[in-house]
Amino acid sequence: MHRLRWLCPVLLALLLIPAAGAANRTGYRAVSGLLSDGRLAFRAWTEADGPRLLVVDPATLEVAVVSGLPVLEPPVPGDTTLERLRAAARLRRGGLQNAGLRLGAPLRTGAWLTFDLCPSSRPLDRSLFIDLEPDSRPLPVFLEVSGRWMATHSDDLAWLEGERDAGRLNITWVNHSENHFYRPGLPLDKNFLLMPDTDLEAEVFTVEQRLLDRGELPSVFFRFPGLVSSPELVDRVLALGLIPLGSSAWLAKQQNVKTGAVVLTHANGNEPEGLEVLERWDRRHRPDLATGAWHWLGLSDWIGAAPPPY
Ligand SMILES: [Zn+2]
Repeated sequence: MHRLRWLCPVLLALLLIPAAGAANRTGYRAVSGLLSDGRLAFRAWTEADGPRLLVVDPATLEVAVVSGLPVLEPPVPGDTTLERLRAAARLRRGGLQNAGLRLGAPLRTGAWLTFDLCPSSRPLDRSLFIDLEPDSRPLPVFLEVSGRWMATHSDDLAWLEGERDAGRLNITWVNHSENHFYRPGLPLDKNFLLMPDTDLEAEVFTVEQRLLDRGELPSVFFRFPGLVSSPELVDRVLALGLIPLGSSAWLAKQQNVKTGAVVLTHANGNEPEGLEVLERWDRRHRPDLATGAWHWLGLSDWIGAAPPPY
């Protein structure tokens, strides 16, 4: 009996230890500093074997995890892809809806595909990705993941990673907040991330760590839930080193695909009408995709895509 009483707290403690990867991360926080190679550190944390930094290449927007604690210099403003996009997003900070980067001026004719994965009890629309994959694979996709979607769709996440690993998808992970708060009937200025008492840092950092736990790299893009924000919230997201990503072509709202558009649909089972529009558009433009007259654009297509200001 005594032994059992002693064992129970031990077993409970063991059960409470999070999965490998998450267990060892402490002190996750925002930082801002330049490495000697010109990359910008925007997160820092400590694992069992030492410190880590999440860094972005300001020219290419490629993100990486760096071990150790290199000397960080104060960031200096420069004419980089990252700074141009942040400046463009800052110019579009007004209003309650669709702040941030909505449009680019890409060097190739085409548009960026973004798929929001807001919390949903429905499965991922896998057939959409299979249908859209061009002959010249991989298909570049920007996936806006909410933490609550990730928590309930591990099979779908594994499927997406499998498509990526097989060379059929080129995924850029975009943060869409952990909880994606929404309450029907509340005015927009008190809804989504503008709901009082929302902890923005927790909303951002939890999703990033969910991705890191899977061995994935969060990009520097952030999509506001419901596309709802305030100028102050845009500033706070920018201060966390991120670029708010709006949309100029929400297909379920009859907005058109044009070159340079950030195309928005939901692949979480909740917006079949948007996916039908996208599939129809894609079928009509298959010949253009084949000849290179049209491209679905990837992360590298943001390089040089936004002259300041656009
Ligand atoms: Zn959403």
